Amino acid sequence: MSLTKELINEALSGVSHPDGGDIVSRGCVVNVAVCSTDASVRICYTQGHPDQPQPDRSTLSNLGKFAEQLIRASAKEQGVDSLGLVIDFVDHAGEVVLKLKSDTKTSADQSKPADQTQQSTPQNNNAAGVPGVKHIIAVGAGKGGVGKSTVAVNLAIGLARKGHSVGVLDGDIYGPSLPTMLGLDAMDQAVIESTLQPFLVHGIKSITMGKLVDPEKPLIWRGPMAHGAFHQLIERTQWGELDYLIIDLPPGTGDVPLTLAQSVQLTGAVIVCTPQKVAQDDAVRAANMFESLGVERLGVVENMSYFIGDDGKEYDIFGKGGAQQMSQKLGLPFLGSIPINTALRQNMDSGNPTKNFDPDTAGGPQLPASLNQLADQLVAQVTLASMGKGSKAPTLSIS
Ligand code: ADP
Repeated sequence: MSLTKELINEALSGVSHPDGGDIVSRGCVVNVAVCSTDASVRICYTQGHPDQPQPDRSTLSNLGKFAEQLIRASAKEQGVDSLGLVIDFVDHAGEVVLKLKSDTKTSADQSKPADQTQQSTPQNNNAAGVPGVKHIIAVGAGKGGVGKSTVAVNLAIGLARKGHSVGVLDGDIYGPSLPTMLGLDAMDQAVIESTLQPFLVHGIKSITMGKLVDPEKPLIWRGPMAHGAFHQLIERTQWGELDYLIIDLPPGTGDVPLTLAQSVQLTGAVIVCTPQKVAQDDAVRAANMFESLGVERLGVVENMSYFIGDDGKEYDIFGKGGAQQMSQKLGLPFLGSIPINTALRQNMDSGNPTKNFDPDTAGGPQLPASLNQLADQLVAQVTLASMGKGSKAPTLSIS
């Protein structure tokens, strides 16, 4: 037995809302994430009512403690005695107004009191292997064409729109897509005292091999050369302070993605997959690759999940939910799904990814909603990963 999102939501439905009903039925529980014996919950009391004032900190704190009791009781029923729990109270803009963090895992018989902080407190600010960068997250896929770069770019922009400082590195050195997706074609790479200056577009910093080599020439680098180039991109770029550095890895599980994933201290990896069975088989291989490297698997994204026609109806083309089932089978968090969307393809091809976040230019509200949900889920999983283990230095174990 294990704790699930559904059980947490059920537990939280025991918390009443001051205006009547409970916080779940009123839509105040904006996100729940669970990974093994860690859970994270985001609650917005003014959800749907931005004009209402936020409850004060002591009210939120009491509500949080009550919510914690209910979740712990539910966890206990499932045999989960020690649970790492983060409850974030957020305002209407998604800003955290109060964070309650409690962990009964550090001491089996003595529960630590809930710690209240306003800022997120990652275990090791400099554990990511690049000075000033808190979390390095790799985005990988079992094969090309599933939308790995699309997900990497939209995750980066989604996180930036929520107030985080974000960089994205095009590690797909054989087929860099960032120049097109971020609209960098007309820009030149700036170098100051042999340091690469990242491009500053769409609210994120970015760097890509595509701006350092002739885009028409194929890059036929062998593993060690690719590794060297990748390292230079990371180390010689002046990233400054970043909350997240997203790395778009080359597709597959061959020598190059494996070496690159191993060569930097990753907070974790996101695996992109389309719903079909054949795509899932490749994604399982990617998930296994990260596991063998000791890289935390932060979750699976199902891309091209379903199609929304001009009539606004959903069409299930590839078998919606396949990747979610695969993630459940592997015991990995499911971060969410992205529909097949003509506007998304056009926005990415024309270097206008921020248009994906505006319903007027994203073919309706579904795409912005799913991209926002993905960013929220990723933040939650990174918090859980940091609580559980901290950032890991990947090592290859051969069995
Ligand atoms: P990968 O990095 O896995 O090779 P890309 O991110 O480059 O894949 O995506 C391949 C193509 O598919 C791009 O033209 C991209 O715009 C398009 N694409 C990706 N995801 C979607 C989607 N959900 N809806 C429509 N087009 C998509």
